[in-house]
Amino acid sequence: MDDKVYNVSVIGGGSAGVMATMRSVLNNDETLFFPGTPADRRRSRERWVKKVENMPAHLKYDRGIEHPNQESLAWLSECSLKHNFHWKKDLGVTSLKKEDEVFHLTDSEGELYKSRFVILCTGVMDVQPKVNDSIRDILPYANKQTADYCLRCDGHHVYGKEVTVIGHSNIAAWTAFILKERYNVPNMAILTNGEKPEFSEESNKLIKLYNIDVYEEPIQQILGDPKVGELEAFILCCGTTVPTEICFVSLGMLVYNELAKEAGAELDERGFVLTNEKGESSISGLYVAGDLRANIKKQIYTAWDTAVDSADAINSILRKEKRERLLQGL
Ligand SMILES: Cc1cc2nc3c(=O)[nH]c(=O)nc-3n(C[C@H](O)[C@H](O)[C@H](O)COP(=O)(O)OP(=O)(O)OC[C@H]3O[C@@H](n4cnc5c(N)ncnc54)[C@H](O)[C@@H]3O)c2cc1C
Repeated sequence: MDDKVYNVSVIGGGSAGVMATMRSVLNNDETLFFPGTPADRRRSRERWVKKVENMPAHLKYDRGIEHPNQESLAWLSECSLKHNFHWKKDLGVTSLKKEDEVFHLTDSEGELYKSRFVILCTGVMDVQPKVNDSIRDILPYANKQTADYCLRCDGHHVYGKEVTVIGHSNIAAWTAFILKERYNVPNMAILTNGEKPEFSEESNKLIKLYNIDVYEEPIQQILGDPKVGELEAFILCCGTTVPTEICFVSLGMLVYNELAKEAGAELDERGFVLTNEKGESSISGLYVAGDLRANIKKQIYTAWDTAVDSADAINSILRKEKRERLLQGL
């Protein structure tokens, strides 16, 4: 057991976790950084995101989150404040509890740590559509970004293309409407993949007005070239072929909130962690940044902004404590 009480621990090594760590180290606060095990990273957006086209200066990276993060972490390990940076490479956190005003963290090798403040950045993952009970068939297209998940990141891919939205919720219907309105998509279909549509009355009206075809049958096959990610069509169980060059998946998100729950933090109805504007959860000292946090855009720049707010809020408390000790002559 490491008996020292660290000031800050950051859990998660994606957009939010790396920014929170960078900000804390540069604020001169000693920081433990747990980026996650290889398995944590494989199931995260950090690893999954490829080209980032909606942000300046990212086009040169094949993996728009992972590669710039690696560069920044390498720099942090060499910078003048490197003594504050404790990088627990390939380690995740398996338990997080607050006892006697201090957080107790257990890492994936069973080592224990104590920390006054925690910034939790474990993120989310998008739910994948199943074809014959497996997500295997969609993955090559997700890897080449002909299957997309985020309107703000990749909506522009649909311009001039035949587009299919996969999903049955009213959010899926709205994904189709936004793409249609924004990019004047010539042909648009919604595949509910065997689920009953949950569209509102207004959505049903818009579906008709926008000539969007809705198919409820399960997807039986994806036609295309998985090696290069070229998508041609979805074949449904009834034999119908739905021509598709780009598909958007709108099936919701898996929220990685296990540690937040264990620590007792309050969640919203979808499982995101509720916080104040600085990112502090209902557990004092437990901050949350990035996609895991409720009521924010799920984007890289929001992850950065929320991470900076949390690290700066912690630094402000630590500085205030120092100032008060100084004023009291301690
Ligand atoms: C296909 C796709 C494309 C996207 N493209 C863009 C884009 O172009 N532009 C944009 O702005 N946004 C994009 N996004 C959104 C962006 O990926 C997310 O908003 C961003 O990754 C959120 O950062 P995060 O740090 O909250 O989570 P993530 O980046 O998902 O990072 C989560 C981290 O938590 C770690 N972790 C998980 N569990 C544990 C644990 N127990 N212990 C320690 N660590 C743990 C993981 O290893 C990982 O490092 C895209 C999303 C998807 C799905």
